[in-house]
Parts: sequence; structure tokens; C-alpha cells
Amino acid sequence: MKLILLGAPGAGKGTQAEILSAKLNIPTISTGNILRAAVKNETPVGLKAKAFMEAGALVPDEVIIGIMQERLAEADCANGYILDGMPRTIAQAEALEAGNIDIDVALSIEISDEVIEARMTGRRTCAACGASFHVVSNPPKVEGICDKCGQELSIRKDDQPETVKNRLKVYHQETEPLKDFYKSRGKLKMVDNQPTIELTTAVICETLGI
Ligand code: AMP
Repeated sequence: MKLILLGAPGAGKGTQAEILSAKLNIPTISTGNILRAAVKNETPVGLKAKAFMEAGALVPDEVIIGIMQERLAEADCANGYILDGMPRTIAQAEALEAGNIDIDVALSIEISDEVIEARMTGRRTCAACGASFHVVSNPPKVEGICDKCGQELSIRKDDQPETVKNRLKVYHQETEPLKDFYKSRGKLKMVDNQPTIELTTAVICETLGI
């Protein structure tokens, strides 16, 4: 299964990707997590990406396409994968097609901007392993500590209210047109965000027939 998760920032793509990844036994590839690790390690890609990310803007397509080509060529991608946060522009989607990457489904998680703005203020992430939690809907077992690796959780710089507004604007302008792109190829499926993570997983599994 080659699955793309579409949806606004904060729609729950990362959380659902982790769940589906375990269920389907295929890796999740999150360009956001790859970029955050690159920024933390001050690699050349990280140095290029940092200012864009902190402003809630998109990192240039050529940087993302390079990252994806490298990552998708790794052995663990042979039986499929879940793309979380990529493609985010038509140019990135076209680059996947140009690389003969044949996607099975692009699944869009639909959610209103208002719900997102309220939700993002409660998000806590682990800078060490990329895991994501929420103070109300998905709290870690020990407050402020990552369940997966035991490191301290923090608030992403780009989860600040003004940056969230900008990320939503960028989503509507640059990423939402991908729904039509995949619809015209017969690949688009849509689900509505549900009140809990478990219910959203249930509608996704039903829609995917898994
Ligand atoms: P995310 O964790 O997916 O919300 O990504 C965090 C930030 O990383 C985004 O706001 C962008 O600045 C950058 N980013 C992640 N994936 C992409 C992508 N496919 N294209 C451009 N920028 C990206």
C-alpha cells in the first residue's frame, strides 16, 4: 500500500500515520520529522529549511524532492509506505509521478480551521524521536515526557498561534489543490475528522477497506 495522507497542519496526519504504519507494517515517511531532525543536527538541508519552517512557510520544492527521492529508495520502502506531509505542492506530486511512484490512495482528513487553531495550542512533540501528543486528546503517560523514548516534550515553534494561521493559509493555497489533482486520477478518498483519535482511525480503516 502506497498511501498519501493529506489534510491541514494539525489534522492528525502524523498520529493516524503512526497507527496505520503499525497496522499495515509499512513505514511512515514524514518530511516534517526529517526536516526537524535536519534542523536539530544543523545539516546543510536543515540550515536551508530552518527559517521557512519557523515562519510556517513551505520549504522549497527542490529540497523536499531531494529528501523524498533518497528516502523512498531505502530498503524498508519496498512493500509500501505512508507519506505524511508530502506532497504539499502540485510540483512535488508531479515529481513523484515523474519518478514512477505510483500512489494507491491519497486520503484527505477534513477538518475546519477553527478546530485546528484550538487543537494546535495543545500539541506537544518530542524533538528526539518525532512522536506527537496532545494535552487533552492524547496525553503522554507522564506529563511532559515522551512515552516512546523518555525525552522531554516541547511545543513546536511553528505551533504558535500566528504561525498556525500562516500555515493554514499556505495549506489552502498550495496543498489543498492536491485534492483535485488526485481526484482527477481517481485516487482521492476523504474522511471527516472525528471527536477522538480512535473514531478517526475507524473511519479511515473503513474507507481504506483495511
Ligand atoms: P509538518 O510537521 O508536516 O507540519 O511540517 C512542518 C514544516 O516543515 C512545514 O510547515 C514546512 O515548513 C516544512 N515541510 C514539511 N513537509 C514539507 C513539504 N512536503 N514541502 C514543503 N515544506 C514542508
